[in-house]
Amino acid sequence: MKILKFGGTSVGSVENLHKVKDILTSDSEQKIVVCSAMSGVTNHLVKLVDSVRFADTESITRNIHALEQKHHDVIDALLTDPELKNTLKDGVSAITTNLFDISTQPYSEELYAKIVTSGETLLTYIFSGFLNAIGVTNVLLDAKEFMHVGNTDTPNITAVGERLQRILSEHSATNIFITQGFVCLDTLGNISTLKRGGSDYAATIIGAAIGASEVQIWTDIDGLHNNDPRHVDETHPIAHLTYNEAAELAYFGAKILHPQTVSPVVGKDIPVLLKNTFEPSAPGTVISDRTHEKGLKAISAKDAITAIKIKSNRMLMAHGYLRSIFEIFDTYQTSIDMITTSEIAISLTIDDTSNLDKIVEEIGQYAEITVEQEHSIICIVGESIINDKASYKLFEVLNHIPVRMISYGGSNNNISILVPTKDKIATLQFLNDQLFKSQKDTVQVS
Ligand code: ADP
Ligand code: ASP
Ligand code: MG
Repeated sequence: MKILKFGGTSVGSVENLHKVKDILTSDSEQKIVVCSAMSGVTNHLVKLVDSVRFADTESITRNIHALEQKHHDVIDALLTDPELKNTLKDGVSAITTNLFDISTQPYSEELYAKIVTSGETLLTYIFSGFLNAIGVTNVLLDAKEFMHVGNTDTPNITAVGERLQRILSEHSATNIFITQGFVCLDTLGNISTLKRGGSDYAATIIGAAIGASEVQIWTDIDGLHNNDPRHVDETHPIAHLTYNEAAELAYFGAKILHPQTVSPVVGKDIPVLLKNTFEPSAPGTVISDRTHEKGLKAISAKDAITAIKIKSNRMLMAHGYLRSIFEIFDTYQTSIDMITTSEIAISLTIDDTSNLDKIVEEIGQYAEITVEQEHSIICIVGESIINDKASYKLFEVLNHIPVRMISYGGSNNNISILVPTKDKIATLQFLNDQLFKSQKDTVQVS
């Protein structure tokens, strides 16, 4: 059994849905197909949530009608049989009518999740109906029946597996299952989300839960590139990455993967393939536990980073001092990404600023604290990168980069530098030119 996940662009138009159909029918292996909402739909639903919060009934009505019309238009373009079209349109209208009904409820986190995940419900309903209509027999599974993950940071893979296996065993003759990404149930049994972009994570949770042979993530680019193709010229896809490398790149901003995508399959020997829906024959990227090549592989960047400098005249390194600082971050459940220390100061970064005021107030009682926002972590990744010649080359070029902090040697696979976000794109391009352009002649792997 394979898992195939298709992202928003892949399912974002009638033409593209036909391409997905071709991929699904290109072999006869049993598969679970995890779909996102059509591109743009989740953002549209996030706006609907805003209208619900402000009880803006006119905007709610306009928003839901537009959503219904968009999906009715897709049905019109996908199918020819008028009766079947009407049946599917009625199904779509039932989903949007339900959205109207719940839009009158008071705001809650569960209401947010119910609304923003309905794009996946709409798309999978239509796509499954379309495939069945053209003879590609499939069963539509409601992810809410089995994605009982509990804590989304440490998903209960066993619970998901037990529920899903039970459901699958009721359909032993079925080859293609269609289901929704993004949605899940939390520890309280409430409907929740795997956070924006979370369909990738849904696919690997499902893959791990049923012991899939592989998880394929189909998107609009030919694999994970060595640098962010949205900002940098001359990037190239990487054929192989280890789980470690992919996890670091995803956590530090490579948008192609949700930050937690890799964790469910680590140690389970389930490769994750990144493939291009618009160029299915391109090799893409294979993520597994095999190291094909050591050394520099790729660079990514994570934005919205806050740098905090804590300066104390009291002996900073005195026994217990660092612990007392970390305890404050721990109390406010704020994790630290980068950290550097000197004799009298410690600099660290966080990305979640929801409790920053309280943290500053507490630390401010016994140290001088300065906060700088709008920074980006640039993460340079590769197995054993710190033994790679290219990493020494980094120090030669650092002079040209407005470095605020640097972290080297924390892991063998990652060198991180902190720069002001306004300098991020120039830094990414500069590093690309300096580290990758003549890499073949200069890099020697120990
Ligand atoms: P999907 O909707 O299929 O989940 P995403 O938009 O989430 O797709 O991810 C694919 C996009 O990620 C690409 O179109 C590309 O612009 C962007 N991206 C950012 N960094 C990278 C990278 N290092 N390699 C490949 N794509 C990247
Ligand atoms: N549709 C959701 C989003 O846009 C989940 C996903 O696409 O992965 O965030
Ligand atoms: Mg995505």
